[in-house]
Amino acid sequence: MKKSFGILVILILLYACDNKPYQLEFTYPQGKHKALVLSYDDGTIQDIDLVKLFDKHNLIGTFNLNSGYLDKTIGWPLQNGDTIFQRYVPKDSLNIIYKNHEIAVHGELHKNFLDISDEDILKEIDSDIKVIRNATNKDIRSMAYPFGNTTPHIAQLISKTGLINGRTIADTHQYGFPENYFMWHPTCHDSRVMEHLDSYLKLNNKELSLLYVWGHSWEFDDENRWKNMIVFCEAIAMAEDIWFVSHGELTEYLLSTNKVKIEGNKIYNPEENPTVWITLSDGPKKINPGETLILSDYE
Ligand SMILES: [Zn+2]
Repeated sequence: MKKSFGILVILILLYACDNKPYQLEFTYPQGKHKALVLSYDDGTIQDIDLVKLFDKHNLIGTFNLNSGYLDKTIGWPLQNGDTIFQRYVPKDSLNIIYKNHEIAVHGELHKNFLDISDEDILKEIDSDIKVIRNATNKDIRSMAYPFGNTTPHIAQLISKTGLINGRTIADTHQYGFPENYFMWHPTCHDSRVMEHLDSYLKLNNKELSLLYVWGHSWEFDDENRWKNMIVFCEAIAMAEDIWFVSHGELTEYLLSTNKVKIEGNKIYNPEENPTVWITLSDGPKKINPGETLILSDYE
């Protein structure tokens, strides 16, 4: 995540007949420049309360599930010798629980990708995609690496699975974008999100930015942490200049801006793209799929 803010703002100077330059840049929908992604791992039963909190404030989450544990209760050994029991969400209710949110993958059995073969990594992801797609009837686009572990080689493997991103847990404490969408380092774990609340609310940059928060809903068994999350969600939800978006939809949007074609004073948004937004000198304009915007209309 070395890229600075706005590396994804594509700045193009186009010249009309009178040689007056148009300044064209992509924005998020409605001309917004800021976005929030909330990415939660493991698919434990505590997701249900977190989803309710997000729904109350119209926030959007991306939930990364381990399909091999759906419906089950599993005991995990702790370092101090104790065992923690985790209950996982039921497979037959995924579309009810995560109705307004993105369902994504996290490895069928949460294996550490640094410890297994390429073949086993692909099995962990391919079977996860297949089971969750069958259970939800939805396209699966995003993933989070189990334990956050990846390498450029593993990222390359994942890029062949049909997914469009892969998230680590290497917090950057910045608001930029990764060079490689399959090694997507988040801004921060939710335990440190209050450090970013005011600065992100106040950010008034004309370049695209992203506050990317990750965590586990089971960590909210700690009452103080849960209270903290409520405060964060209430505050960030008030911001009218932030796009609340899933990781998959954000990634798709960023990828689609690269497919917009510019010829002379015409800007064409391909049919297969979502609606894209640009800012012209007279404000934000949307270009629907299959639509051509002629810049001279906006002289
Ligand atoms: Zn995990």
